[in-house]
Amino acid sequence: MKDFHYQALPLDVHFGNGKSAEAKDILIKHGYYNVLIITTPGQKEAGQKLSQQLQEISAGVYPHAVMHVPVEVADKAVEFARSNDIDCCLALGGGSTIGLAKAIALKTHLPIVTIPTTYSGSEMTTIYGITENNLKTTGKDIHILPKVVIYDPELNLTLPAQISACSGMNAMAHAVEALYAEDKNPIVSLMAIESIKALKFALPMIVDDLSDISARQKATYGAWLAGVCLGSVGMAIHHKICHTLGGTYNLSHAQAHAITLAYSVHYNRNADIEAMDRLAEALGVSSREEVGLAVYRLNQSLKIPMALKDTGLPKEGPANVAQIVCDSPYYNPRDYDYEELKDLLNKAYQGLPPA
Ligand code: NAD
Repeated sequence: MKDFHYQALPLDVHFGNGKSAEAKDILIKHGYYNVLIITTPGQKEAGQKLSQQLQEISAGVYPHAVMHVPVEVADKAVEFARSNDIDCCLALGGGSTIGLAKAIALKTHLPIVTIPTTYSGSEMTTIYGITENNLKTTGKDIHILPKVVIYDPELNLTLPAQISACSGMNAMAHAVEALYAEDKNPIVSLMAIESIKALKFALPMIVDDLSDISARQKATYGAWLAGVCLGSVGMAIHHKICHTLGGTYNLSHAQAHAITLAYSVHYNRNADIEAMDRLAEALGVSSREEVGLAVYRLNQSLKIPMALKDTGLPKEGPANVAQIVCDSPYYNPRDYDYEELKDLLNKAYQGLPPA
C-alpha cells in the first residue's frame, strides 16, 4: 500500500427521514438564535414553512439564490446579512442555495447550516464559486464549510425526476473521480465505492416512483458519501470538462455531469487499472472496458437526455471544449489527447455510446 494523507473535515451531520423537524433544537444546541433561511425563489414556500417551525430563532427567508452565484446576487445577500444582525445562514436547497450561503460566509465568516434538497454534495466541501462577467471563479476556504448538515430524504420527494437523475449522476461523478484522484486514499475510495453502489441502486427506483422514500434515503446516503469524496480529494478530467461546459457554454451543471461521465470514464478506463477495476465491479460489469457503456446505459434507464446538442451546446462545442480542456488541464491519471477527447465529446454531442 502506498503512503497517503487523509484529513477529515469537521462537520456535524444528522441523517434521517423527517430529521429537518429537529432543526430548531439542533440550531439552539449550536448557539444560533437569529437564523436567516436562504432558498431559491422556487423553494421560498418550503423556506417559509421552515421559518414558522424555527419560530423566534428565525430571521426570515431570503429567497434569492440562483444558479452559479452571480456576484451581484452575492453582494446583495452579504449586505442583507450584515444589516440584519444574523448569527447563522441556513441554506435550504441544492448547490445553488448552498453556494449563496457560502458566498455570504466568505465575506462575513458567518456559520452555515445546510438542509440539502438535491444530491449536489456542496454541503460537504470548502469549495465556493462566484460568477462575474460570465466567468466563474472557484476557490477553497475553511470558513465556508457548513458547521451542521441535516439530511432529510423526505425533502427530496418533491425533486422532479430529471433533476433527481441528473443530480444523482452529478454525485456519482464526484465518487468516480475520487477513485483515481491524485491524492486518493483508501478511506475515501471506500466511501466512493459505497456511494456509487448506493446511487446505482437507488436512482432508477426514484425515477420509477418519485415517492419511494427508501430509494430517496439510499440516494441521499450515496450523495452524502460522494460529497465527502469531493470535499476530501482532488478531481480530474471529468470535472474539467464539466466546468468548461458550464463556464463557457452555461450548460446546466448537473446535466453536463450526467451526460459526460460515461465518456470521461471510458477515456480513463485503462489509466488507473486498480481504480477502474473497482469501478467496473461497483457498476456491475465484468471488465473496465465496459465502464463507459455501463454509465451510458444507466443514464438511459434514468431517461436523462443523452445528447449535448439538445442541451444548448453549439456544433463547434466539442472541439472547443477539447481544446480548452487540453490547454489548461486538471490532474488526470493519463495524458490529455486532443483528438481522442474531441471524438468522445462529438459522440456525447450526438448522444452516441462511448464505445
Ligand atoms: P440547484 O441548486 O440549482 O437546484 C436546481 C433546481 O431544483 C432549483 O430550481 C431548485 O430550486 C430546485 N430544487 C432543489 N431542491 C428541490 C426539491 N427538493 N424539490 C423541488 N425543487 C427543488 O441545482 P444543484 O445541481 O443542486 O446545484 C448546482 C450548483 O451547485 C452549481 O452552481 C454547481 O456549481 C454548484 N455545486 C457546488 C459544489 C461545491 O462543492 N461548491 C458541489 C456541487 C455543485
